[in-house]
Amino acid sequence: MEKTTTLAFDGGKKAVQTTFPWPLFDETDVQAVAEIVRSGRWGNPDCGDSVEAFEQAFAAYCGTKYAVTCVNGSVSLRLALMACGVRPGDEVIVPPYTFIATASTVLEVNCVPVFVDIDPDTYNLDPKAIEAAITERTRAIIPVHFAGLACDMDAIMDIARRNNLKVIEDAAHAHGAEYKGRKLGSIGDVGSFSFQSSKNLTSGEGGIVVTNDESLYRMMASLRNVGRMEGHQWYDHFNPGCNYRITQMQAVLLSQQLKRLEEQTILRNTNGLYLNELLTKIDGITPLSRGSEENRHCYHLYIFKYDPSAFGGLSRQDFVARLAAEGVPCSTGYPHPLYKQPLFQNKNFMCYAIPESVDYSAVSCPVAERACRDEAVWIFQHAMLGSREDMQAFAEAIRKIQRVVIQPGPTVG
Ligand SMILES: *Cc1c(COP(=O)(O)O)cnc(C)c1O
Repeated sequence: MEKTTTLAFDGGKKAVQTTFPWPLFDETDVQAVAEIVRSGRWGNPDCGDSVEAFEQAFAAYCGTKYAVTCVNGSVSLRLALMACGVRPGDEVIVPPYTFIATASTVLEVNCVPVFVDIDPDTYNLDPKAIEAAITERTRAIIPVHFAGLACDMDAIMDIARRNNLKVIEDAAHAHGAEYKGRKLGSIGDVGSFSFQSSKNLTSGEGGIVVTNDESLYRMMASLRNVGRMEGHQWYDHFNPGCNYRITQMQAVLLSQQLKRLEEQTILRNTNGLYLNELLTKIDGITPLSRGSEENRHCYHLYIFKYDPSAFGGLSRQDFVARLAAEGVPCSTGYPHPLYKQPLFQNKNFMCYAIPESVDYSAVSCPVAERACRDEAVWIFQHAMLGSREDMQAFAEAIRKIQRVVIQPGPTVG
């Protein structure tokens, strides 16, 4: 038979036959939640100890003394910023290649997000660029461990110490990932995680902060619980917090899910290393670097750079549409860096502490812009839980597209 191929996009057979369900659960998860439902003790606090039990388990997993759950991974950043004592008009350094919450929570606490470009090889904050962006108003840095890859934390902690800045790790992509043997989220002043449904540890929605600092812990626990303080009366409110509490149902589900996290993380890391090996051999495909330090990547996203010139000029958009049709769960990611959002361009801040002189139309982070416009392709975390054969099938899907677009001709299924 003629050795030609039809892309799944054009009605051919998919290169990847496996499907990748997410979230993963079994009867023990259903039982644990059902038990809480039957008990009628759903709320928090004073309705049992599932929330506290999960907080202790997650803190122990991260190697921190304390953890405080909250409704999502945006509020967790807000709690961290408030507890760190930022003041109106202070500047907070953030990357532009991240989810909106990393920057919008800075606005919510009346501070100015200052966008610092990412490193072209890792897509994480570039420490050299951080140093250059520090002013006398800078109060904190929010490094995002993007895709689950550790930022250069030695360099960032060193900059923070020398400039008296707080470090809030946005670890929303980084559950179970490590830097030099330490869990991400445990290195800065506070680590912030999300349990939203796409994240590597999930209860549908939810968030948590971890810290080793007792006073930050006490403040975040108070802010999460309408400003109440431990050891005081129910109607005594000390701090400007809100009700950011999760339910007992979420907490038991998270405790169940946490039991699987380490194993899943190791599998994603192993698959990522193998996929790097396979994709590096394909002309026009460059997997992101894993940085120079010893680490464990948790591949919330597996990212590679795409060069259309090795694919007969096929645009990245068209490539990703074909790759997805072959059965690889993937996307081109963010269409533009955060500072291009109308929120920043139009200064719709609903906040009056931001100086008139702040102007995001003048911001330019060329590396982030290139990642958004030209380069990045994301494969989603649940696909990284596949088998070694699945990784081979991902590589084959890419090679298949390359063959077809470079040598179009008569095709058979
Ligand atoms: C998901 C995410 C958040 C916010 O989490 P939510 O739980 O959706 O509020 C914050 N930062 C990053 C980098 C994220 O990906």
